[in-house]
Amino acid sequence: MQERGLWATHLGPHLGGPGYGQVKLALLNEILGRSHSAPIVFGCQAPDSGNAEILAHYGTEQLKKQYLEPLLRNEIVSAFSMTEPRGGSDPTGFVGRAELDGDEWVVNGEKWFSSHARYASFLILLAVTEPDADRHTRMSMFVVPADTPGIEIVRNVGVYGHDPDEGTHAYIRYHDVRIPADHILGARGEGFAVAQTRLGGGRIHHAMRTVGLVKQALGMMCERALSRVTQGETLARKQLVQAMIADSWVQLEQFRLLVLQTAWKIDRYDDYQKVRVDISAVKAAMPKVLHDVAARALQVHGSLGVSHEMPFGSMVLESFHMGLADGATEVHQMQVARQVLKQYRPTEDLFPTGHLPRRKAEAEARFADVLAQVEADRLIGASPGSPPGGGS
Ligand SMILES: Cc1cc2nc3c(=O)[nH]c(=O)nc-3n(C[C@H](O)[C@H](O)[C@H](O)COP(=O)(O)OP(=O)(O)OC[C@H]3O[C@@H](n4cnc5c(N)ncnc54)[C@H](O)[C@@H]3O)c2cc1C
Repeated sequence: MQERGLWATHLGPHLGGPGYGQVKLALLNEILGRSHSAPIVFGCQAPDSGNAEILAHYGTEQLKKQYLEPLLRNEIVSAFSMTEPRGGSDPTGFVGRAELDGDEWVVNGEKWFSSHARYASFLILLAVTEPDADRHTRMSMFVVPADTPGIEIVRNVGVYGHDPDEGTHAYIRYHDVRIPADHILGARGEGFAVAQTRLGGGRIHHAMRTVGLVKQALGMMCERALSRVTQGETLARKQLVQAMIADSWVQLEQFRLLVLQTAWKIDRYDDYQKVRVDISAVKAAMPKVLHDVAARALQVHGSLGVSHEMPFGSMVLESFHMGLADGATEVHQMQVARQVLKQYRPTEDLFPTGHLPRRKAEAEARFADVLAQVEADRLIGASPGSPPGGGS
């Protein structure tokens, strides 16, 4: 892949990627999305891709040399340790601490669902460093070498459908874990802003690949509908199946255009902050599109569809992963709604501005002259022998 210029395509040339930009990347990721292992083969798998972006933005030269370079060469893997067992949707409630003691940070706390921690050489950790600051500036981001004493993996949690003994989402306890003072990423209290660097890119890249997965499910549904015969005709001729295909195509096209438009905006503004809401919208839409299309494809395949011999069960489950990883759908919906609501104002009247009697009264007041003229014309037109009222 490196020889072909297709390695780590999410990165710019200064980091060893080709710097295609997000629109081209979206089109490439649509192809990669068909295969679960493609991101690893192409060097753009989560959580490493996002962690690389953080290190590239906020790491010192030494940290980049030590962690980013081998990560980009895929010699090591990494983990992202942010969610706590008490709840991930509200990071302002996290309690895991990092306290400066001489030239070291001392970390204590628990983290939950730190994917791939069992294989990772380092973890990117979010911890409270400024307990008295306001809710959004209490935390900082760190690089934690995975072999630092005091890191206990309580258990590796698996997800439904996978072998429970092969869980990859670690429940971790940090007991007096000492890391060098320079392993902080960004300034103290800047943890949320640093996290956004990582999550913005990760979310949109995931959505691009989901377009490919949904396309694959739709393709399989259509092939089956055209091939399976019942009551003397193919499933494709049944109007209820046609409705499933049409609804799936519409959902896919709407989602794909939203993803491409967001990718275009990222290229245009070169600032994730400016497209935060677009990315939240994509993230909120993604699980439903995959769920709906995969579930219809499953249904059209009948008993074969629910079997282990087809991938639809895992696609449907994957849609639930997507509705949680990198933030629950509802949280992203709230972000979008907040932004949309900023564009509107409340009315102080009892009835809304769109109330038809009110609009009629406003129109009558505004066009009183014209209406008076029309009425005058009508009266003239009504008299015998006059032409019908002219003008407007
Ligand atoms: C496959 C997978 C991989 C993951 N990998 C990582 C990782 O590598 N590192 C990491 O740190 N975390 C990871 N996570 C955790 C993920 O970030 C959290 O699951 C997510 O932030 C939600 O937190 P929670 O699971 O504690 O759910 P909770 O916060 O307990 O929320 C539960 C549910 O409550 C509802 N809810 C929550 N808030 C609101 C709201 N404001 N309004 C309305 N409803 C709401 C939603 O339905 C939500 O699903 C991963 C999760 C999954 C599924």
